[in-house]
Amino acid sequence: MSYEVHNNCAVIEDRYNKEEEIFTGSEGIYEKGFSVYVKNLSELKEAFKLQKKCVCCIDEGTSEGMHVAGSLILLNEEQLKKYLAEANPDELTSHAGCGAAMLCAKKDSHNDFSQAEADEYAQKLINDIANKYHLKYTHIPADKMNRPPEGHFARVCYYDFTGKFNYFGVTGMPAGFTISRKFLELEYALTEAGVALNIAFGDHGLGEGLLTEDKPFLLVAIVENEEQLKQAQQELNSLKSSHSKGAKIKVDFFMAPEIKQEN
Ligand SMILES: [Zn+2]
Repeated sequence: MSYEVHNNCAVIEDRYNKEEEIFTGSEGIYEKGFSVYVKNLSELKEAFKLQKKCVCCIDEGTSEGMHVAGSLILLNEEQLKKYLAEANPDELTSHAGCGAAMLCAKKDSHNDFSQAEADEYAQKLINDIANKYHLKYTHIPADKMNRPPEGHFARVCYYDFTGKFNYFGVTGMPAGFTISRKFLELEYALTEAGVALNIAFGDHGLGEGLLTEDKPFLLVAIVENEEQLKQAQQELNSLKSSHSKGAKIKVDFFMAPEIKQEN
């Protein structure tokens, strides 16, 4: 890959450190768990007021929207159609430095790609999907992303059963990969959560230097009821127990607040 700096570089560590209190403070997430922690976030409901019917990557640096890896490029045609029918977006986005773009480019060809080449490849694919389904298409360049171009600092992956969650703009809500579980089939949703784990533990994420048994990576289910919670815990626990870094992964959850729909 063409990232010039690898994990634990200063800029990643700086973003990681800025969230330290959120996680390790006496009222923090590691001590209290997400359910208790989010009760103190006065802006929590804002995280569920989806303003844009836009599809974005699961990357913590993308914009507000519904989230699926590479904005749909890893789905087959049938899954893609199902997703579009259920999520009903009006816009698709691509973004700079996309890990899913690299996965996709490698899957489709045996050649080696630079990150820039993989991004270009994904941009074309996403633009083609947008044209085919009459959707708007926008590219998010590196300077418009909510993470440094050097890599990923998120220590959370939100596994969202509401399809509306975005962490942005809510004071105290940590950055995270976001997977809109609501619109995905189980097996595929877990594949995406696996992608998030591999990025986080890999060369472009926090790596094993910053993710430890005491400070684990969190798979956080966001659910609307007990039934979803049971299902989410089963799914995420199975992923954790089968993952090579399972001891440094913790499954957590919180209930989405009730919000009256205005439209
Ligand atoms: Zn991406």
